[in-house]
Amino acid sequence: MTQLRIAILGAGLAGLACARELTARGAAVTLFDKGRAAGGRLATRRAEAGGRRLQWDHGAQYLTARGPGFAALLAEAGAQGWGEAGRFVGVPGMSALPRALAAGLDLRPGRHVVALGGGPGAWTVRHLEAALVRPGKALPEVAPSEDGPFDAVAITLPPAQAAPLVARPAPGLRARIAEVGIAPCWTVLAAFGTRPDWPETLRPEAGPIGWLARDSGKPGRDAATECWVIHAGPHWSRAHLEAEAASIGPALLAALPPAPVPLHLQAHRWRYSLVEQPLGEPCLWLPEARLGLAGDWCLAGRAEAAFDSGRALAAAMCG
Ligand SMILES: Cc1cc2nc3c(=O)[nH]c(=O)nc-3n(C[C@H](O)[C@H](O)[C@H](O)COP(=O)(O)OP(=O)(O)OC[C@H]3O[C@@H](n4cnc5c(N)ncnc54)[C@H](O)[C@@H]3O)c2cc1C
Repeated sequence: MTQLRIAILGAGLAGLACARELTARGAAVTLFDKGRAAGGRLATRRAEAGGRRLQWDHGAQYLTARGPGFAALLAEAGAQGWGEAGRFVGVPGMSALPRALAAGLDLRPGRHVVALGGGPGAWTVRHLEAALVRPGKALPEVAPSEDGPFDAVAITLPPAQAAPLVARPAPGLRARIAEVGIAPCWTVLAAFGTRPDWPETLRPEAGPIGWLARDSGKPGRDAATECWVIHAGPHWSRAHLEAEAASIGPALLAALPPAPVPLHLQAHRWRYSLVEQPLGEPCLWLPEARLGLAGDWCLAGRAEAAFDSGRALAAAMCG
């Protein structure tokens, strides 16, 4: 039998789970991602201040496993427990998990996919150098590079980013994925010379703050760096979505008990963070088009949902 050639767009957890399952079933898989590495929202940001190396998990904070498959994957990728029983994190940072899962896969990072060419059985993937693409701006007028042909394509991007790619080959899908709702999240990364008088983690019921955590208290981090992650809640994030990044740190610090002057303060805007309204199906697969979609947004706002969705799409593609 000839080996199936499959392109996977997106190397977050859904894309990685899909790739690993397809590879195990004998397919030749190529992963494309606009990021510098695999991981998507399983991410770790690094910086230096005052001669100290700082780091924060600015996306997913901790992972939980309800099913044995995801529990086994976390163990394989070296996740360690943190805080309450059943919470796991990557070590030395969350990004270590996707890095371990991507080992041995044909990953093409730094490729911003702009279109699919060709058609079923002979798809091509058109992409631009990610460094040329500015978020929220028109695409640069540069001819894209093209890879392929591929027998089938799996798109594992958040729905708003997948929508333009399916517009030509599968126009009917646009309405389906438009039903999905994902909240934005402003995230603040702060570091202090001395420990603020804050609890190790906090999830307030109301107000601007959605979550606070002492990132440097996670296993394998340098506890002395006092690195903290502050997430704004979805309501506040939506109301301030287009605000200047520089205004976000001071605004969220002002909503917390007084802290020492930070050594480092920066904000990251996640336009697509936690799923509020999922699709309600494990994945979407169009057998005639040989095109499918997966991601946490199919099932729920948890990393395990991305894993389940990616695996479901791989099974559908081979079915
Ligand atoms: C702030 C925050 C906190 C969270 N906290 C938790 C938590 O505590 N626990 C938990 O279980 N989950 C949490 N999550 C959710 C969890 O991170 C996600 O459910 C999971 O990582 C989603 O994986 P995914 O593969 O579906 O999508 P993503 O990780 O978003 O992967 C999509 C990939 O597609 C790539 N991409 C997008 N557009 C293009 C393009 N045009 N061309 C090429 N590549 C492209 C992106 O670079 C990305 O790598 C959190 C998320 C955020 C943002």
